[in-house]
Amino acid sequence: MTQTNEYMGGENFDLRDILIRGRKMNLQNKTEFFDSFLESLLSNKQMLHLRCITSAADRTVTVVDTYTGEIKDMLMFGSNNYLGLANHPYIKAFVQKVIEKYGAGIGGPPLLNGYTALHRELEERLADLKGAEDVLLFSSGYSANVGLVSALMNNEDLVVYDSYSHASFHDGIKMSGVQAVHFSHNDVELLSQTLERTESMKFKDRFVGVEGVYSMDGDVAPLDLIVPICKKNNAILIVDDAHGTGVMGNKGSGTAEHFGLEGKVDISMGTFSKTFAVTGGFVAASKSIINYLRFFARSYMFSASLPPAVVATVLAALDVMEKEPELHQKLQDNINYTASCLKQLGFSANNLTAIFPLMVPSGINIRDASFEFHQKGIFLNSIEYPAVPKSQQRFRISVMATHTKEDIDRLMEVISEIWKDNKPEPQLDSSKVISIDNKVLFN
Ligand code: PMP
Repeated sequence: MTQTNEYMGGENFDLRDILIRGRKMNLQNKTEFFDSFLESLLSNKQMLHLRCITSAADRTVTVVDTYTGEIKDMLMFGSNNYLGLANHPYIKAFVQKVIEKYGAGIGGPPLLNGYTALHRELEERLADLKGAEDVLLFSSGYSANVGLVSALMNNEDLVVYDSYSHASFHDGIKMSGVQAVHFSHNDVELLSQTLERTESMKFKDRFVGVEGVYSMDGDVAPLDLIVPICKKNNAILIVDDAHGTGVMGNKGSGTAEHFGLEGKVDISMGTFSKTFAVTGGFVAASKSIINYLRFFARSYMFSASLPPAVVATVLAALDVMEKEPELHQKLQDNINYTASCLKQLGFSANNLTAIFPLMVPSGINIRDASFEFHQKGIFLNSIEYPAVPKSQQRFRISVMATHTKEDIDRLMEVISEIWKDNKPEPQLDSSKVISIDNKVLFN
C-alpha cells in the first residue's frame, strides 16, 4: 500500500495505469491499489463519476453531492436522452398500461419463453423505421454489437473498420477471431484503398464497420461515399447508428435517411439507450440475416428478453416521434443554437448532431474542471484517457430537445468562466489522428 499511495501523488495517473500495473498483482493487491486510486480522487475532489441522481432524467435533475451530501439542482447536459423522452407523460402512461397486461418480466430468452406479441410488434415497427426487412432485439446495444459481429464473422473473413468504432464492436471482433484492420477515422480514401488491396485475398466475406454518428466527436460517417465504395468492392456494410437513430433524418430513421440512403445499408445496429431513453439494442437487416442471428448470436440466444416495460417504452417513443415532429425540430433548433454559441466563444462546432466535444486545452486539468462544472450546477460528462487519447481529453455536451435557450446560455456562461484565459482548443482533424496498422495484411 505504501508504494501505491506514493504513486497516487502522480499527476497523470489513470485507469490504464491501473490495468497495466494490476496485471502483475494478485486480486487483493490489485483491488487495494484501485481503492487507493479512488480515495485519492475523492480527497482531491476529482471524483465526479457515479453521482447519485434522485429525480427523473430530464433537462434538470437533482443530484446528491458526493462531497457535501446535499441534494443539488443541476442542468443536465450529459444525457443521451436527445428528444427528452425519458420522462414523457404519454410514454409513462403507455408503459403503465402495458405492465398491467404483460406484468413486470418475462423469465426467459426470446428463443424459449421470452418472445411476446409486444416484442414482435417492436421488431416490425423498427424494421419499418429503418426500411429493413426484419429486426431482432438485444438486451443492450453492447450485446447487439458483440452478438452481431461474433455470429457473422470468423477467421476466414476480413473486417475493415473505422478506428473510432465503439468498444462493443472491438469486443465482437476479439470474440469472433475475424481478421481485422482499421482505417483512420472517416478516411474513406484509405477505406477504399484497403478494400481494393484485399480484393484478391481469399476472404469468404469482407465487412466494413462504421458508426452513423461518432459518440465522442459528434461527427458523421460520410455514408454517401461509403455505401458506393462498399457496393463497388462487394463488401457488407455495418452501420452502428446508436447516436443517429431518432436524431438524424426527417423522420429520425437515422444517418442513412440523412443521406437519402434509407434501406441501402446492409446491416444497421441501434440502441434504446440514447433517443429511446431506456436500455436495449437492435439489429436491422435482411430476413435471412436476422433469422441466422436469432440462432447464432450468443448474446441473443443465451440472455433473457427485454422486459415488457422497456419494449413498451420504445413503442411509445416511436408513437411520440411520429405524432410530435416538433420535438425533432426543437432538437435541431437547440443543436443550431449551441453550435452558434460555441463558435462565438471560439470553439469549432458543427450543427449536424446533438453531441459537441469540448476539447480541453493543456492549461486546464480536466478533473478539476469537472468539479467546477459540478459546483456551478452543470452536469457534464468528462471523457478522459483511455476512452480517448491523452491529447484529446474532452467534455462531451449532449443537447436535448427539452433544453431551453436559457439553459444553453447558462452552459456557455459557465464554459467561459472555466476556460478563463485559456484559448479554445481547435478541433483536431480527426482523420489525421490515428494511422492505420494493417501490417498483418500487407507485409
Ligand atoms: N455503440 C455506440 C456507438 C455507443 O455509443 C454505445 C453506447 N455508449 C453502444 C454501442 C452500446 O449501447 P448500449 O448503451 O445500449 O449498450
